[in-house]
Amino acid sequence: MEGKDYDVIIVGGASAGLTSALYSSRQGLKTLVVTKDIGGQALLTDSIENYPGILSTGGFELMNSFKNQAEKYGAEFVFDEIKQINRNDDGYFEVSTSRSGYRSLAVILAFGKTPRDLGVPGEEEFKNKGVSYCSICDGPLYRDKTVAIAGVGMPAIDAGILMKDIASKVFLVFPSGDLVGDGNLVEQLKSSNRVEMLSHSEITEIKGDKRIRSIVVRNSGNSTEREIEVDGLFVEMGYVTKTEFLRDLLDLNKLGEIVTDKEGHTSVEGIFAAGDVTDIGFKQVVISAGAGAIAALSAYNYVQKVKGLPASRNDWKKLSSKKESDTGVSLFLH
Ligand SMILES: Cc1cc2nc3c(=O)[nH]c(=O)nc-3n(C[C@H](O)[C@H](O)[C@H](O)COP(=O)(O)OP(=O)(O)OC[C@H]3O[C@@H](n4cnc5c(N)ncnc54)[C@H](O)[C@@H]3O)c2cc1C
Repeated sequence: MEGKDYDVIIVGGASAGLTSALYSSRQGLKTLVVTKDIGGQALLTDSIENYPGILSTGGFELMNSFKNQAEKYGAEFVFDEIKQINRNDDGYFEVSTSRSGYRSLAVILAFGKTPRDLGVPGEEEFKNKGVSYCSICDGPLYRDKTVAIAGVGMPAIDAGILMKDIASKVFLVFPSGDLVGDGNLVEQLKSSNRVEMLSHSEITEIKGDKRIRSIVVRNSGNSTEREIEVDGLFVEMGYVTKTEFLRDLLDLNKLGEIVTDKEGHTSVEGIFAAGDVTDIGFKQVVISAGAGAIAALSAYNYVQKVKGLPASRNDWKKLSSKKESDTGVSLFLH
């Protein structure tokens, strides 16, 4: 375990988590962000045109400026993957990764959605060694190489369209009889002499040495199996909420999303959540950012309470029940 205790640990370093970090550090809370990357899903698009105040920007650029702003106010960052969260008897939460552990009075869960795995032998071993979940991010590394794409629907189609102009050969592996999505794009894939469409097929194993060398593909139509040599594999199966490790700790909905109230409280006091990882109805950058701010303000109130400090001026539940003139307190944060 690390020696330092934090007021707040934020899990996830994208729209929701970085905004939480900005608000929490600006409120003077000792804030740590534990995240696998900076930017999350926003990294997958190089053009965001619906973030207010900015006509058009790349996901990477926007997320980087979120991070810089949070860092300016003192938020600290660790790049790691959270595996477990427990509450200690002393009131602190223990947030564990496979390498380390961190302690805080409050936790904000903002770890969004994660690419769906194939779940076949070899996948874990060759992650980042030729197995990628983001063709937009890693596709250019495979210029003039042979790649496979295992996917469904538009994620697979988009990846195929991108990779047919980069790779020398693309095997598109999908379980159905035809790819379901934009018909024009599917026709472009079918007519490309670089693309081989493997319908009714699924990957059963990924093989290699230091990195991926081949995939084993089973055709459920004719019950045959074939091994195909590849330099890279893109898994494009869409995104899921990976919250299984929290199932015994807090309330999740049927989709595995964390159930929150309007102020970002979860079913466990001291744990808050924001953004795509929650049951919020719409998933967008601006919505995650707003929810991140709300969760951080709620976490601030909680930490104040735990420390026995006076109620904050942004304790919305209490203050909004009275008129501003009655309380003499501004309801606006500065
Ligand atoms: C291709 C694409 C294009 C999009 N275009 C737009 C658009 O134009 N405009 C728009 O508003 N929205 C767009 N969206 C939606 C938008 O990207 C998401 O709603 C937003 O990124 C959600 O932010 P988030 O912070 O809630 O979660 P995410 O972006 O999913 O970020 C989750 C963060 O948590 C980290 N993480 C995950 N698991 C763990 C773990 N166990 N431990 C530690 N860290 C973890 C990740 O590394 C990441 O940093 C797009 C989405 C996609 C996929």
